[in-house]
Amino acid sequence: MASSSRTLVRLAGSQLGVTVQRLHPPMTVSTSVTRSVAGFTTTSCARKPALPSPFALIASTRPVASRQFRRCYADASSPPPKKKPGRIRSTFKWLRRFAYLSILGLVGVVAYDGYKDRHPHEQYPPDPQKKTLVVLGTGWGSVAFLKKLDTSNYNVVVISNRNYFLFTPLLPSCTTGQIEHRSIMEPVRQILRHKKAAVTFYEAEATKIDYERKVVKITDNSDIKGDVSETEVPYDMLVIGVGAENATFGIPGVREHSCFLKEIRDAQAIRTKIMDCVETAAFKDQTQEEIDRLLHMVVVGGGPTGVEFAGELRDFFDEDIKKLIPEIAPRFKVTLIEALPNVLPMGFSKQLIDYTESTFKEEHIEIKTKTMVKRVTDKTVEAEVTGPDGKKSMVTIPYGLLVWATGNAVRPVVKDLMSQIPAQKDSRRGLAVNEYLVVQGTRDVWAVGDCAVAGYAPTAQVASQEGTFLAKLFNNMAMTETLQNRVHELSAGLNLKPGDAAEVAREIESAEKQLRRIKDIKPFQYSHQGSLAYIGSEKAVADVAWLNGNLATGGKLTYLFWRSIYLSMCFSTRNRVLVAMDWIKAKIYGRDVSRE
Ligand SMILES: Cc1cc2nc3c(=O)[nH]c(=O)nc-3n(C[C@H](O)[C@H](O)[C@H](O)COP(=O)(O)OP(=O)(O)OC[C@H]3O[C@@H](n4cnc5c(N)ncnc54)[C@H](O)[C@@H]3O)c2cc1C
Repeated sequence: MASSSRTLVRLAGSQLGVTVQRLHPPMTVSTSVTRSVAGFTTTSCARKPALPSPFALIASTRPVASRQFRRCYADASSPPPKKKPGRIRSTFKWLRRFAYLSILGLVGVVAYDGYKDRHPHEQYPPDPQKKTLVVLGTGWGSVAFLKKLDTSNYNVVVISNRNYFLFTPLLPSCTTGQIEHRSIMEPVRQILRHKKAAVTFYEAEATKIDYERKVVKITDNSDIKGDVSETEVPYDMLVIGVGAENATFGIPGVREHSCFLKEIRDAQAIRTKIMDCVETAAFKDQTQEEIDRLLHMVVVGGGPTGVEFAGELRDFFDEDIKKLIPEIAPRFKVTLIEALPNVLPMGFSKQLIDYTESTFKEEHIEIKTKTMVKRVTDKTVEAEVTGPDGKKSMVTIPYGLLVWATGNAVRPVVKDLMSQIPAQKDSRRGLAVNEYLVVQGTRDVWAVGDCAVAGYAPTAQVASQEGTFLAKLFNNMAMTETLQNRVHELSAGLNLKPGDAAEVAREIESAEKQLRRIKDIKPFQYSHQGSLAYIGSEKAVADVAWLNGNLATGGKLTYLFWRSIYLSMCFSTRNRVLVAMDWIKAKIYGRDVSRE
């Protein structure tokens, strides 16, 4: 190694120092060589001891430039003491390491979760000897219930007309292709496969609950039907979580001409219709009046769903459609209609309502408050507007797309059950339940979520808390029964069989103690975590519980908060990964504007 270095040195020395400099620009040697060749005595070379070293003696027979060069090279080969990296550099170094580790950790967690998902434990088969617990629906309430329920205590049967759970808060993002619909769906069979004991699932609609006979009539209303498409399922206990349907308030034309925003198919229909309106507006020789109508998107309902949809729609146009079809861009218009004096009437402070309204103004979303839709035709909305002076007038609003997001109505199966129970005759908005979510006037029937009236707003938060509470109640009931049976069994054998009576008595006492603790379950109480809504242009509003009070905030940072909350609330890691990937994909490539 040393000899090869020397050869290199000699070779280099015989040439001009410039060549060496080019080879090793950052090294001290190059500088020294250059200088020595040029005939200057460099400081570093001059500083060397005057006494000739053995190396210097050998070198003395060689030409001066070469000797100088070699000496300088030898000096340079003992590197100067390493500088300690600066504090900022070392902080960055550690941050980089931390980032690598976090990414590695994240990949590990996702991979492990995927593995767990695909390799579930063995399940106990359903036990028909146990009480049959029938659960209707696979929405927020029912799935929260199933998630926490110990299924080994019951023979559980789930009936729902959709075989997946839908994460509704991100549904408005599906209408514009910001998020793909499958990213917010979780197959119910996948959820149920992870329960301790197997659960029977039927994809069917519950058409009637026969309360007297304790049976649920079910119909398969999917496209493909077998020889049997209607049957009955008996129950010992029934949990109803069928949600609610869209309220139209009997306004003519709503059901025929508007799009709803409740299910995946609604979001898909809206996405198709938006692009249809755009492409039709861009059709050759289209009249100006027709272009204006087609590009007028009207949203009825100023609650969080309507507000979020209007914001998403505006983003879609500004960020994607405008770039691809600039000629129609100035004609695009979004109008939000609300019957009350302001948007976001529930759950948000006045300050946030004002902020939302001013943001919408900037985004050119027109808000028409105190406006009541009276009739809908295939191309227009006829509405009654109350002016500032209280005077009422009628307006006709042409539209290309009409989205109806005005609230909930009771489902027919629930209405029918209510008609069978005298105690429910005064209830209008759903099944009135008591503080343990038992349907008033019934035995063995419970209700959760939007179909239950417990004095709370119809939200996913309420539904999932009710579901979780009910699961605890059912787990406790099962444990109570087991303990009661045990006490009964022990008491029956006490002093009859030879053995340690004191030990048996102690066991009875312990079981009774557990029983007292279990029985002391508190009534359901909803804990409000806050309200969030996306308002477009990467801004959101949030009114969240903070310490003992409320924190009202809006803007871009709140939008990041909104995203992180929704991401964390997604049902599974798979959903979280898919949603995050959709967001990244839309940011890089934009939303997909294909019509289907
Ligand atoms: C677009 C949108 C955005 C929303 N955003 C938010 C939000 O950000 N935060 C929030 O808290 N809430 C939000 N909500 C409200 C929330 O989704 C509902 O309050 C919640 O879904 C109610 O849960 P649920 O279990 O009662 O009903 P659902 O979740 O609607 O589930 C009902 C289930 O019952 C099934 N079903 C219906 N009829 C029958 C039948 N006859 N037989 C058998 N099964 C049946 C359905 O298929 C479904 O599986 C939003 C709602 C929408 C539509």
